[in-house]
Amino acid sequence: EEAIRVSDMAKQMGLKAQEIIKILFSMGMMTTINQSIDQDTATLVATEFGYEVEQVGFLEEGFTQTLEEDKLEDLAPRPPVVTIMGHVDHGKTSLLDAIRETNVTKGEAGGITQHIGAYHVETSRGIITFLDTPGHEAFTAMRARGAQVTDLVILVVAADDGVMEQTKEAVNHAKAANVPIVVAVNKIDKEDANPDRVIRELSEMGLLAEAWGGDTIFANVSAKQRIGLDELLEMVLLQAEVLDLKANPGKRARGHIVEARLDKGRGPVATVLIQEGSLHEGDVFVCGLYQGKVRAMLDDKGQKIKEAGPSYPVEVQGFDGLAESGDEFVVVADEKIARRIASARQTKEREKTLAKASKVTLDSFLASK
Ligand code: GDP
Ligand code: MG
Repeated sequence: EEAIRVSDMAKQMGLKAQEIIKILFSMGMMTTINQSIDQDTATLVATEFGYEVEQVGFLEEGFTQTLEEDKLEDLAPRPPVVTIMGHVDHGKTSLLDAIRETNVTKGEAGGITQHIGAYHVETSRGIITFLDTPGHEAFTAMRARGAQVTDLVILVVAADDGVMEQTKEAVNHAKAANVPIVVAVNKIDKEDANPDRVIRELSEMGLLAEAWGGDTIFANVSAKQRIGLDELLEMVLLQAEVLDLKANPGKRARGHIVEARLDKGRGPVATVLIQEGSLHEGDVFVCGLYQGKVRAMLDDKGQKIKEAGPSYPVEVQGFDGLAESGDEFVVVADEKIARRIASARQTKEREKTLAKASKVTLDSFLASK
């Protein structure tokens, strides 16, 4: 069995060895810095420190998988993950629908698209994954939970309306997340469309068009009349190329929940956006407070698939509870470890809830005095 030295574990977890020794002591184990502990113990210690499963993936492999950087030769290009943001009624939904409908490949024609909260679109120039998160609430909610899943934002601004409140908010969120923006100036079919005004207004927010000496890409489109869509996607893929997006498809999958729901017949299901590694039928995973085993996977066309790699959104069946959007999803070695992590998290969650409840009671008691 694999083992790890206390000092190495401390280094890899960014902790002092002394802190780990203290926890081990509280578990009834006397160790020194140079002693080694087995994987199970290491996992327990990591859980104790509130380490998220991302670390557990490597823990039970003797710290070989996650913390070590992927070898260059294991990395492969992956499609960009794009979120469409913008002011209400500026055409986010129309734009995504238009993009999907004009990029349906022959094989899927007539197939019914499923709503799973994310779409995988094969354009003539490359693949793009779109997150269907209308508005920026979902985007910020995910970020607040530490989940960065978007590589690029398409900012939709209606050419007849110009920059509005939520346009500004979207720009600020994208900037805060350090995610590049491609501007889609929409509704250019309208008589009172004024794309120049959009360029001017956005320049005041620091988004300078190339014509103005900046590097923000603007594309004029009409979602309604399907004008400029190919050009927009080309710009998105060009911008993505600059980002040089890569991931290792050859390891256990990790990703985030885009959305989750309780299905009448299938129980709790969730859309997972795979970010690295590959997910397979039968894989055991931990996700938020829950765990499970991939019983079935569907893509956004409702087709059963057996494997999904980086940047692919898949609807996964086999959770033992309802996950939340933004939860991290990590494949682990076996069911034993999955159960242990999930139950440790649930215990912690219960303790937090109890602590909160007793505080509320005390506060209301004091307030009533
Ligand atoms: P969202 O709130 O940003 O998702 O906006 P929607 O996609 O729901 O669009 C709001 C309204 O604008 C709808 O009535 C659309 O038909 C209309 N719309 C969207 N795109 C265009 C466009 O390119 N041209 C015109 N004329 N109307 C559009
Ligand atoms: Mg909408």
